[in-house]
Amino acid sequence: MNGVRLAPPLCVGLDIGGSKVLAVAVDENGRVVGQLRLNSEPGSDGVIAVAVEAVARLAERLDIAVSELGAIGVGVPGLVDSERGFVAHAVNLGVGSEGLALAQHLHRHTGLKVAVENDVNAAALGAARTLGLNGADLAYLSVGTGLAAGLVLNGQLRRGHRSAAGEIGHVPVDPNGPLCTCGQRGCLETFASGRALALAWPVPSYHSESEPGIGAARSLFLAASNGEPDAIGVRDAFASHLAEAVRLLVLAVDVDTVVLGGGVAAVGEELLTALASALATQGAGSAFLRSLDLPSRVTMIASEVPVAAIGAALIAHDPAAS
Ligand SMILES: [Zn+2]
Repeated sequence: MNGVRLAPPLCVGLDIGGSKVLAVAVDENGRVVGQLRLNSEPGSDGVIAVAVEAVARLAERLDIAVSELGAIGVGVPGLVDSERGFVAHAVNLGVGSEGLALAQHLHRHTGLKVAVENDVNAAALGAARTLGLNGADLAYLSVGTGLAAGLVLNGQLRRGHRSAAGEIGHVPVDPNGPLCTCGQRGCLETFASGRALALAWPVPSYHSESEPGIGAARSLFLAASNGEPDAIGVRDAFASHLAEAVRLLVLAVDVDTVVLGGGVAAVGEELLTALASALATQGAGSAFLRSLDLPSRVTMIASEVPVAAIGAALIAHDPAAS
């Protein structure tokens, strides 16, 4: 090979949530070379302003101009039209049914190409890269306010025909269960989500936690580990419903690995232990389920790793691979 090959530019990944915006700069090998965190501001104008500021500050920290960056990838909650870079119904961000042309606005402010993706999908790609599962099938099960999964199959993101692939939180599991925000009754999400936990284990206040359910989850798992019978009951019921979600994912697409993520996963190892135990219990009477070896296929990534921002940057690097 002759000639000088210029280093491919760094791409930025943004994970825009209701309380914080995580920004990473990632090189072409998926290595994080810069990272920062800003507080979110609500509404369309707030989302755009903080995103633009995050990109500018990241460039400054790397001692390069914004124009020297390659592209921006953004992970956002809500209904995302990734073809148009448009997001709607992102309640946590203060973006309603009118929607927000996020890619268009960010491009106007930065001059860079912008790709927009659902945050759980972005996290699935980021998790696959972080775990080094290149080519293996993975489901990223996000237990946040709600419950949803992102699927990476044959190394590629599977959005589905109407971008609903992985929306397993809205699979009804109890016809007499509570009414779900989606309008159906007894969805899995009404039993296994941060919102469900906050109802099942109410805590007086959790000022330091902005996402519903995280404070409840911490309090619940602490009480359960202290041997409080009520807490053990609520924890085990929660873990059992989460295990249903894992079973659903494996029986639908037989992914190699299910990665547990989302705000509630910040509880850490104890959640994984409770889940593995529930999976083992559910497999006790079924040689078929046992043969699938579910408990050993569930894993976690340290909650400090910004998988959604990393995944968003990977999409910016190579939109075709996503
Ligand atoms: Zn639902």
